[in-house]
Amino acid sequence: MSDFTLNILGCGSAVPTPLHNPSSQVIDYRGKLMMIDCGEGAQSMMRRMHLPFSRLSRIFISHLHGDHCLGLPGLLSTLSLHEKTGTVVIHLPADGVDIMKRITDYFCRESTYEIIFEPIPDDGGIIYETSSLIVKAFPLYHRVPCFGFQFSEKPKQRHLKGDMAKFYSLPISAINAVKNGEDYITPDGTVVPNEHLTTPPDPSRSYAYCSDTAFDTRVAEAVKGTHVIYHEATYDSSLADDARQRGHSTAAEAGQIAALAQAEMLVIGHYSKRYTNVDILVDDARTQFPNVIAAQEGLTIDII
Ligand SMILES: [Zn+2]
Repeated sequence: MSDFTLNILGCGSAVPTPLHNPSSQVIDYRGKLMMIDCGEGAQSMMRRMHLPFSRLSRIFISHLHGDHCLGLPGLLSTLSLHEKTGTVVIHLPADGVDIMKRITDYFCRESTYEIIFEPIPDDGGIIYETSSLIVKAFPLYHRVPCFGFQFSEKPKQRHLKGDMAKFYSLPISAINAVKNGEDYITPDGTVVPNEHLTTPPDPSRSYAYCSDTAFDTRVAEAVKGTHVIYHEATYDSSLADDARQRGHSTAAEAGQIAALAQAEMLVIGHYSKRYTNVDILVDDARTQFPNVIAAQEGLTIDII
């Protein structure tokens, strides 16, 4: 299993069905858990998938429709029963801060940890950054303010060739610069080209979550070059008018976004309750983009 995975907790749309929970996912990046959307049922799916509450420290909410956020009060309340410590940061559209704060002030008043709400700026942008990962929010085109999220690894360091480092007596003080791609200049002034000392870095991986949205090429621009893209696919193409009216996409439109963004893999979800078998949606998406996976509760996908 890779150290960057996507875990599907729920991939249905507005109404829970015997087959699907409402939207929720957990990114496991090097052991740190970050939740994206929190529909009802998210906390019980975390338990079933053995994703420990103690490692959850950040939650990203795309928009304030109930099927994307009403699991939050229950989850946050449970976290304090598990005597969680530290902080949980919740990134959400600005219109959700007051209402969520009132709920948590009431239900989490004896909380063992701190809850911090971070409103997402209207035009998105970088909302979280570590030494190895950047999370960017970008606007989507739904009936209420709505955002997608892109998780991108920063460029990694080149690999040092141990035998060559020894041959040139590379000092410890020069190693970082060489791993960052610089040439090495020996004490007598000889320039050793970087490619003699290193091999290329591991590729940087990326994932983007495109929540509820009408088809819009600006979404493809926002996620251009992302390796794995999740895109809602509420309907098949025969219901394109319904999709447009309700601020949703068809599976073929999800495929178009993946193709325009030059992604390597498309994961579809947010299925309308009318589909008891999502093969029709997978086939619809594949008319536009070949590498399509249907999200399913309990599924874990390696981010490449
Ligand atoms: Zn919605």
